[in-house]
Amino acid sequence: MEVEKMDENEWKYHGEGNQSLVVSHCQRSRLWNQTIVLFRNANETLFFRVFLQRCVVLRFLKSPPNQNKDLDKTPEEILQHLQNIVDFGKHVMKQFFGENYVHHGEIIQLPLDFVRQLCLKIQPERPECRCDKDMDTLSGYAMCLPNLTRLQTFRFTEHRPILCIEIKVANGKWKRPSKYCPLDLFSGNKQRMHFALKSLLQEAQNNLKIFKNGELIYGCKDDQDCVSDWNELARHLKPFFFPSNGLVSGPHCTRTIVKELIHVITTALLSSTDTCRAGDMKTVPISQGRSYCEASAFNKELVRNGKHKLESSGLPRGCLLYKTLQAQMLDMLDIEGLYPLYSRVEQYLEEFPEERSTLQIDGPYNEAFYEKLLDLSLEDDGTVAFALTKVQQYRIAMTAKDCSIMIALSTCLQDECSEQRPVVLTSKSRFTFSVSVLDLDLKPYESIPHQYKLDGEIVNYYLKNVQAKD
Ligand code: ATP
Ligand code: MG
Ligand code: MG
Repeated sequence: MEVEKMDENEWKYHGEGNQSLVVSHCQRSRLWNQTIVLFRNANETLFFRVFLQRCVVLRFLKSPPNQNKDLDKTPEEILQHLQNIVDFGKHVMKQFFGENYVHHGEIIQLPLDFVRQLCLKIQPERPECRCDKDMDTLSGYAMCLPNLTRLQTFRFTEHRPILCIEIKVANGKWKRPSKYCPLDLFSGNKQRMHFALKSLLQEAQNNLKIFKNGELIYGCKDDQDCVSDWNELARHLKPFFFPSNGLVSGPHCTRTIVKELIHVITTALLSSTDTCRAGDMKTVPISQGRSYCEASAFNKELVRNGKHKLESSGLPRGCLLYKTLQAQMLDMLDIEGLYPLYSRVEQYLEEFPEERSTLQIDGPYNEAFYEKLLDLSLEDDGTVAFALTKVQQYRIAMTAKDCSIMIALSTCLQDECSEQRPVVLTSKSRFTFSVSVLDLDLKPYESIPHQYKLDGEIVNYYLKNVQAKD
């Protein structure tokens, strides 16, 4: 991208999490038409530049404000942090998830003036609950990634409206109780997956978002403005699912559209659109019937309906859910089992602090780092090496439990579909899709004692409040 021509007015607030803030390029239809003309008229480079801008996001790191200036990260440290994120995506997560599912992006250096203006411009759009941290405007570095809410893999669909569903895999970050259970989503059983997705659609909270042409149309921007109006959603989706306006309106129409949406998401999630190394290697065996949550609403519903037997199934090996689940299952030890191993590493580091870099605790995240993660042995030989492998595997698992899955869909005509392209049919429409994963930043080593403390608090709470009642 030509960084010297950056104009903050061409960018807008897109979203943020706890660690980073994302802006996307504003698409104006005039510009878009121009882009197509440029492309058709042959100057490929020019097209590439405009096209790139339109389809990317910039992802900035966030930091706590008004910190003691001595504690602020220097631009070099921020650059190193971003480099670690990119390397981790490129050399580690691509291996686990597969080449096509992961977009590691690249680092971009931006004019400081642009970054400061952009920060001021987007500030009013940010949800209040996220403003405990500021966007980094000191370093000028950011990540440049494809805009996955607009990702169009196939040329013929470039001009078509695009729908994107983001599902955050997170477990246990709920403001209110929900019927959604990740184990249902990851079961590979269509019935359970439908139930999980329907629950998510009913109570999206922070875990489900729907974008149309890159704009959020369903899901929470912050705690206050949580939209979950199915009629409104159906109004947005109708042109995708019933292009010739065959279905009128009303509650029946809404239900049908939501049902077809769930069908499309399920099919996309179960499709295998990639190959990868870890998939062919010896990895954590996923048992056929992964258990239910104690609290699974689906399980209770089944019992209530007098159904006890489920159609047995598992996840197809190539699909993104399978890859995600495999990475999540690298935490073969729970935090209770892991903490003593973490302490062993800590003790060693106290004695030999200079070993921290040799042990690759905070990177570099390269091939060698990946190779060490493949040792799944649970036989503790008392070494630091064993302890460290388990600690790093645990960090990968935590990362995979916190990522977002993005499903981008656009309609296609029958004669546009060939065998190489994944297609899903609904009653009156036909979609082509791409599936990807984002937010794969490795959880820091320091998050382990934090996790341990949290776990202790939960156990204490349970002992005090739940057992006391028995
Ligand atoms: P968390 O608190 O979950 O760790 P984070 O601070 O790491 O989040 P991200 O999840 O990477 O931040 O980004 C925040 C949001 O921005 C995402 O949930 C997603 O909606 C959007 N987003 C991030 N990257 C992209 C992308 N490449 N394309 C489109 N949208 C994106
Ligand atoms: Mg996130
Ligand atoms: Mg994150």
